[in-house]
Amino acid sequence: MDLVFSRLDDSVARFTISGATPAFANALRRSMIGEVPTLAIEDVRIYDNTSVLFDEILAHRLGLVPIKTDLSQFVPRSKCTCEGVGCPQCTVTFTLSVEGPGMVTSGDLISMDPCTVPVHKTIPIVKLWEGQKVVLEATAELNTGLEHAKWQPTLACGYKEFPVITIHDSCDACGKCVAECPRDVLEISDNIVHVRVVNGESKEKDCSMCRLCETACMNSGIGENPAITIGADSTKFIFVVESDGSLPVKEIIERALLHIKSRSTDLTDALQDISTEGL
Ligand code: SF4
Ligand code: SF4
Ligand SMILES: [Zn+2]
Repeated sequence: MDLVFSRLDDSVARFTISGATPAFANALRRSMIGEVPTLAIEDVRIYDNTSVLFDEILAHRLGLVPIKTDLSQFVPRSKCTCEGVGCPQCTVTFTLSVEGPGMVTSGDLISMDPCTVPVHKTIPIVKLWEGQKVVLEATAELNTGLEHAKWQPTLACGYKEFPVITIHDSCDACGKCVAECPRDVLEISDNIVHVRVVNGESKEKDCSMCRLCETACMNSGIGENPAITIGADSTKFIFVVESDGSLPVKEIIERALLHIKSRSTDLTDALQDISTEGL
């Protein structure tokens, strides 16, 4: 199995996996969304709330604020030596005290740990009018997206099969498919249509498989079958993963792969135990 990145920075990764199965691609997607832990606000103690939002909505909005997470620093509360009481290894406390008029934002959350802060300071929580007030204490803990979407480290996380564009000999280079393609993937040269190559890289991966080119070709009166056909390689997948900023996207991919590996090992061990017991 090969993994090739075409883009990788802290927030976005675009990569192609080849030699894989659709089941593995989906397992990786699910693992990145649901099995990589991050911090999110779970408990909120509200001392004063005279804003227009109910306490529950306020707490819900706080829970959705992405928080920078150093996974080497924290353990899930359920596995912590404090046995769920809450300690610096499993819990981060924030305080917030704002009086109107003005917008309460994620930047108003004051963390007890200077390294563990909201990813963005400008996320609006609630607008306060003159005389309104919000005073609260919130605790964030580690968990996974499997428990609740607020612990998902990804914003966008999806894949598609690698597109395969086939040009047949019946092409008469009329150019109708080139004009129709919304991704600028095709061009005419040497009296036949081709997939464009830009900076030594084929544009085939940019094809959205919309099949507008096939329709345009049929509308050109080519006959029974289009001279261009769009298929997919079901062993090769293009992934796009965007982090919410709580973790670097590379760490999300690595941890998701490690999770799949450990679950596979668990399954192998369980199967071995069953076959040994059966002897
Ligand atoms: S399927 Fe759509 S994006 Fe792909 S080559 Fe045809 S028109 Fe372009
Ligand atoms: S529309 Fe059909 S015949 Fe015309 S250039 Fe495209 S593939 Fe060739
Ligand atoms: Zn603890």
